[in-house]
Amino acid sequence: MPIEVKNINKSFISKKNDQLSVLKDINLNIDDGELVCLLGPSGCGKTTLLRLIAGLDQPTSGEIIANGEKVVEPSGDRAVIFQQYSLFPWLTVLQNVTFGLEMTNKGSKEENIETAERYLTRVGLIDFKDSYPHELSGGMKQRVAIIRSLLNHSPILLMDEPFSALDMQNRHKLQEQLIGVWKRFENTIVFVTHDVDEAVYLADKIVIMDKNPGRINKIIEVDIERPRKRDSKEFIALQE
Ligand code: ADP
Repeated sequence: MPIEVKNINKSFISKKNDQLSVLKDINLNIDDGELVCLLGPSGCGKTTLLRLIAGLDQPTSGEIIANGEKVVEPSGDRAVIFQQYSLFPWLTVLQNVTFGLEMTNKGSKEENIETAERYLTRVGLIDFKDSYPHELSGGMKQRVAIIRSLLNHSPILLMDEPFSALDMQNRHKLQEQLIGVWKRFENTIVFVTHDVDEAVYLADKIVIMDKNPGRINKIIEVDIERPRKRDSKEFIALQE
């Protein structure tokens, strides 16, 4: 069981010195290799829960166990991917993407370049592989950064609305890339979204959260063998 969320409560002190309860009695088990979406309206505590799993903040009470150890601080095993990204300005697009692959020393240099080129081709950026970040538009930079994060081989990926600023076409492409990476590397992924279609497309398990204070309302287990084609009968049925 790589992630166990046990009786988590989280409060913040507001500017007026009131106690603001943001998460209440959250219990959740995330299995090895599972792709879990946290779904709920803005302000229900999704980011707060993700930050606790990442070790970026501590719960008021309760505990989180990741890979058998209590989470007390951030760790390289749990990569966090936010909506804002940064690329290394002194590296080309291709070098930015192979950077993560090379860090983990898996595969030869040629294999890493081949993998990076394949993913850049799929998101339509192969012609820019030798460009530097300042030569790209904001959306292009974002796509490069997402590919780089997806390929960094972290066993646990914690993703906070990573695609929400992209247009529909690129959003769909990157959702497909994410599924491709996840199937290949079998990472455990916790993905925050407020978009039902996105959760239904991606998730093995959808955790639906309520507001005031944030609680888990319902957990839907999705058939992982389902076709992920957006126009399939199974997919349309799931959205209803
Ligand atoms: P979501 O990701 O579901 O939109 P958040 O986890 O970002 O929700 O926020 C949940 C609630 O917690 C919001 O009301 C937000 O204002 C509050 N909150 C989040 N972080 C802090 C903080 N550091 N201090 C005070 N309030 C916070």
